[in-house]
Amino acid sequence: MLSIAIDGPSGAGKSTIAKTVAEKLGITYIDTGAMYRAVALEMTDSGIDVNDAKSVIHTLDGISIKLEHIDGTQHIFLNGKDVSARIREHAVSKAASDVSKIPEVRLKLVEMQRKIAEEKNVIMDGRDIGSYVLPNATYKFYLTASAEIRARRRFKELTEKGQTVEYDKIYRDICDRDYNDMNRSFAPLVKTDDAILVDSSDLTVEEVTQTILGKIKK
Ligand code: C5P
Repeated sequence: MLSIAIDGPSGAGKSTIAKTVAEKLGITYIDTGAMYRAVALEMTDSGIDVNDAKSVIHTLDGISIKLEHIDGTQHIFLNGKDVSARIREHAVSKAASDVSKIPEVRLKLVEMQRKIAEEKNVIMDGRDIGSYVLPNATYKFYLTASAEIRARRRFKELTEKGQTVEYDKIYRDICDRDYNDMNRSFAPLVKTDDAILVDSSDLTVEEVTQTILGKIKK
């Protein structure tokens, strides 16, 4: 099986790139962040404090998360309901980063992710794919960009969607999520020695895609 791991901090463009590479190679794109977001959504919908690990773990047992690809796009189902749009809400991002610190949450999702990669050729994006989920991935990439560039891109994206947002708040949120992801004790975000570093700060989406495809062909 072919497996391509793309890790990196929030807002580095992993999902856009992974989706394009998946289409070009005819393989399945798995967005693992969506799974952490679905767990976070269930907790906030149930009124559970995402920092209360005991309650999160208790609720985790009863929830079902399923990924399905409809017309090539990943949809995520939480207890049978398609929550693909709701998990993108801003409040869910921070909650996802909080629940992702809990080892029991990670273990449940990692097991699902490994199973998918055993059955299909995949490009999987996340924070711990090359370091923990698929340590023997065929290719590993670490996609990053400066926090300022990532915040500027996010600000532009949200403003274009008609949302009123503050740049400073977006910048702070990105820095907080970086800190959380890089400093949790279990499976933190790290660049492994065998991952190819791609800094997208001064590159277009096309340039990043071509860089990655170029390495894969070799
Ligand atoms: O990638 P995305 O921003 O959608 O992920 C939401 C959150 O889920 C991240 O901030 C990160 O804390 C967590 N995550 C993770 N491991 C992954 C994917 C996402 O910890 N493999």
